[in-house]
Amino acid sequence: RSVMEKVLQRKSLRMRNMQRAWQESPEGRRMLDFRKSLPSFKEKERLLQAIAHNQVIVISGETGCGKTTQLPQYILESEIESGRGAFCSIICTQPRRISAMSVSERVSAERGEPLGETVGYKVRLEGMKGKNTHLLFCTSGILLRRLLSDRNLDGITHVFVDEIHERGMNEDFLLIVLKDLLPRRRDLRLILMSATLNAELFSKFYGGAPTIHIPGFTYPVREHYLEDVLEMTGYKLTSFNQIDDYGQEKLWKTQKQLVPRKKKNQITTLVEDALNNSSFGNYSSRACDSLACWVPDSIGFNLIEAILCHICRKERPGAVLVFMTGWEDISCLRDQLKAHPLLGDPNRVLVLTCHGSMATSEQKLIFERPLANIRKIVLATNMAEASITINDVVFVVDCGKAKETTYDALNNTPCLLPSWISQASARQRRGRAGRVQPGECYHLYPKCVYEAFAEYQLPELLRTPLNSLCLQIKSLQVGSIGEFLSAALQPPEPLAVQNAIDFLKMIGALDERENLTNLGKYLSMLPVDPKLGKMLVMGAIFRCFDPVLTVVSGLSVRDPFLLPQDKKDLAGTAKSRFSAKDYSDHMALVRAYEGWKDAEREGSAYEYCWRNFLSAQTLQAIHSLRKQFSFILRDTGLLDADAGANNRLSNNQSLVRAIICCGLFPGIASVVHRETSMSFKTMDDGQVLLYANSVNARYQSIPYPWLIFGEKVKVNTVFIRDSTGVSDSIMILFGGALCHGVQVISFVDIFLLDQTI
Ligand code: ADP
Ligand code: MG
Repeated sequence: RSVMEKVLQRKSLRMRNMQRAWQESPEGRRMLDFRKSLPSFKEKERLLQAIAHNQVIVISGETGCGKTTQLPQYILESEIESGRGAFCSIICTQPRRISAMSVSERVSAERGEPLGETVGYKVRLEGMKGKNTHLLFCTSGILLRRLLSDRNLDGITHVFVDEIHERGMNEDFLLIVLKDLLPRRRDLRLILMSATLNAELFSKFYGGAPTIHIPGFTYPVREHYLEDVLEMTGYKLTSFNQIDDYGQEKLWKTQKQLVPRKKKNQITTLVEDALNNSSFGNYSSRACDSLACWVPDSIGFNLIEAILCHICRKERPGAVLVFMTGWEDISCLRDQLKAHPLLGDPNRVLVLTCHGSMATSEQKLIFERPLANIRKIVLATNMAEASITINDVVFVVDCGKAKETTYDALNNTPCLLPSWISQASARQRRGRAGRVQPGECYHLYPKCVYEAFAEYQLPELLRTPLNSLCLQIKSLQVGSIGEFLSAALQPPEPLAVQNAIDFLKMIGALDERENLTNLGKYLSMLPVDPKLGKMLVMGAIFRCFDPVLTVVSGLSVRDPFLLPQDKKDLAGTAKSRFSAKDYSDHMALVRAYEGWKDAEREGSAYEYCWRNFLSAQTLQAIHSLRKQFSFILRDTGLLDADAGANNRLSNNQSLVRAIICCGLFPGIASVVHRETSMSFKTMDDGQVLLYANSVNARYQSIPYPWLIFGEKVKVNTVFIRDSTGVSDSIMILFGGALCHGVQVISFVDIFLLDQTI
């Protein structure tokens, strides 16, 4: 022990020397000057004192004030300076992987070190850290996973849980687990960080932990609502016959509630006219955008285009940040802008995108200042709201919506709808414009709509299915799931918890007494949705790993098949070429991926994607996820070192189909044939429709009694996305507990008993 102590002491001295050398170098000094200019610097001593004297503290401060990059760094520096650097180990969690990556890179740069030295990161399936890492940025999911095997967080001295105001499911979950841990680890320090002022709630949760607010400084931001934007861009509201496929019926209904009746200015009158107009019935496929409801004739994107033009032509220099609902909208708009004479001119405008699954190279560009005279425009999801700070933003365009999963516990259906953001989000978005100078924010909705927004967003724990979470709670061995969750900041509905438990039982992850089965143990180790994890395990056991791996990776990234608004038919035809009459979107995905690999070898990948309406970026992401999943599976001992052995039966179509069925169960719909049409019924007897770009939507009849699907989504009606036809025999053998036949899954559980984890 004392030898170890000596080694660490020597290492601490080395760390101190290196830190001092950097701080005294010209570059280090320049960096320090920048850091001193951040609002959090003024509070540094107070913060360090508070952290030293309290086990838990809650810190709030506006986005950009230096919470994430500075606070953990202050602790690291002061420990190093006091000669205890090698003894400290700090973890800081982020809700999103991309922020963990970008922040760790930034902090390394501020310390003049390469990433992966003192500062590192770890996110799902990826990381950069080493034996010298003492400050680790990771996703909250990673810390939870670590808690599974290391219940006391041995060796960790400080835990920061960042962005708690977002009320993400993992953060809420962490807060319960850590609360339980604190009495056992009296020396552990917990620091909660939030971008909004509602720190009280968290402080109370931890028995009145002290709160510290970092007063921030931002420049004033002028607000423009839809009324002004229309005037600036010369658009006029005339009629509302735009149909957007997010399910206008529902949207319109919510709007009707949202728009207060007494505030009838010109726009609300128009909206109400439109509401009373019944020509909104049809469903048109893939979304154009969320604004369409306010503006006529697909002006949605055009309005954004127009306001961007207005900024580029008439406004002072400065980057533009556009908040949109999701990747699909972002890529559509980006393509549209490419064709624009001004916005598509690379000598004048640089259009970048910022979303959860973007490549690292693209990430860096977002933070860089463009060459003089080039206007930077960043199209972003609500990720850019709080966890990422782009310094030179002066203009913000806010669509007012975010795609958010809500969960209908009664029907046990997740709903994916772009819904109105909260007032807190809208304020947050606006604030992004005032970082470096006074800014402008263009809200693409009327003021009266803003006033009707909810004050805060509902916590994720209350609006998503709890399947994965319950599996993790089970493997934490903290007793009953229901009891555990009732200790949450805002506990979920008992019905939602029961649904999750029933689900886990149904897929064979929990037994009748709610204990983890062998399969369940494996599933809790795989960083994917339990359903998909099960598919991987089954693919490995049944020796058809490769195609199953592609399906799982595809389902966890996103659909690589593109569906451009104006070329839906061509895109649909292109996709159906991959289906070879096997009535399966999943098999189409496998073939498309394999075709892409071949094309890549021949150097024609670009052309291949173009011809087949495939996203090269998505295929690339699927490719790297495949590698990572097989790495983990190999680690658990389920895969042989010899890849051939795992794939002996990969060419057996029926088997692959059966494994897909086993994984996606209980997502089944029975196919009901009528004379000229088909309809589909799910187990709970609900009617569902197929998504327009499913290969199965192109057939008049399907020679299978069942369709198995990954996801049903409630838009205005319930849709199923990707589906695969399955026969009765497969359903009986692989369909799980509901079909009282031979249950393969119980054999699988016995098989897994013999494996060593
Ligand atoms: P907070 O967590 O309070 O929102 P951060 O610690 O993320 O703030 O950021 C503090 C400041 O550091 C930002 O205002 C920005 O000026 C700067 N910064 C953060 N990340 C980067 C980056 N990747 N590149 C350049 N500057 C950055
Ligand atoms: Mg932050």
